[in-house]
Amino acid sequence: MRIGFIGLGAMGSAIAANLVKAGHDVRAWNRSPVAPDSVAGATLVDDPSDAFDADAVFTMLADDPAIREVILESGLLDRARPGLIHVVTSTISVAFAQELEARHEAAGLRYVSAPVLGRPNVAAKAELNMLVAGKAEAIAAIEPLLAVLSKKVWKLGDTPAQANAAKIAANMMIAMAIEAMAEGVVLTESVGLDREVFFELILGTLFAGRSYESYSAQIIEGAFDPGFKAKLGLKDLHLAAEAGSRIGRTLPMLEAVRARMGEAVAGGLGERDWSVMADITIRGGVPSQAPAILEEIES
Ligand code: NAP
Repeated sequence: MRIGFIGLGAMGSAIAANLVKAGHDVRAWNRSPVAPDSVAGATLVDDPSDAFDADAVFTMLADDPAIREVILESGLLDRARPGLIHVVTSTISVAFAQELEARHEAAGLRYVSAPVLGRPNVAAKAELNMLVAGKAEAIAAIEPLLAVLSKKVWKLGDTPAQANAAKIAANMMIAMAIEAMAEGVVLTESVGLDREVFFELILGTLFAGRSYESYSAQIIEGAFDPGFKAKLGLKDLHLAAEAGSRIGRTLPMLEAVRARMGEAVAGGLGERDWSVMADITIRGGVPSQAPAILEEIES
């Protein structure tokens, strides 16, 4: 198939590379110049509209404003190949997914929400979990593409926003797990219990699970190399709060981790992995210490 690809960041470059490996003709666009061989075998195009001249196009931009600017405000949808299927894999808000659904329908295009679970190394291995929602016939048409990117395609429904709500909720729960582990370390290290020993206990008994495994390792190692950047994690926690407020709900645990992630980003740690939030809690949570934490991480 001829496939367009918009956004060659950490996730997008890994996903686009797997589409090329599967034998597709991939035309990829990124805002900033990327090395010509950054996605071997893909054709780099100068304008996003070149990527929209395709059977299907994937978008893996950072957030709602980036997609609004590149796809909606540019009038791209009006110039797209008729019948094209647009697959947005970014983590975006529920409200924006609803707006995208309506805008595509008005332009005679098909829209599928397909946010993913998995970090860039997982994307590179084509082992993502893809959370997919949209019209059944559009999903069926792109299923062979999703299959070469993922370990499993989770079909969540025929309303695109269902996939986005599931993704936002999942990320909210990972942030809560990171903070839970950090607070456990605060209590146990205060009496000299090594965090490695504590995590072995917790993972081997009460909390066996992928988020606990992967982020306890980050907390032990203490390097906080991204991964998933704290600034994007904060974006997702804002999306969760926004989704709650649309239905008149404030979620107390969400508000606690949102404030903590906000401290990390305000303290200059936005480009570190989002698990750096745990380091702030373990060190006492004083935002003004963040530059010192950064220096220590980098030294
Ligand atoms: P990233 O490495 O920071 O890449 C972001 C991409 O968005 C880059 O291509 C960037 O272009 C582009 N971009 C940002 N603002 C733009 C704008 N105004 N106009 C045009 N392009 C713009 O982020 P990522 O880790 O790949 O994440 C991408 C999406 O996947 C996010 O929605 C994130 O929440 C989601 N996600 C990430 C992970 C993860 O572990 N990293 C896991 C699951 C889902 P430039 O190169 O020009 O800056």
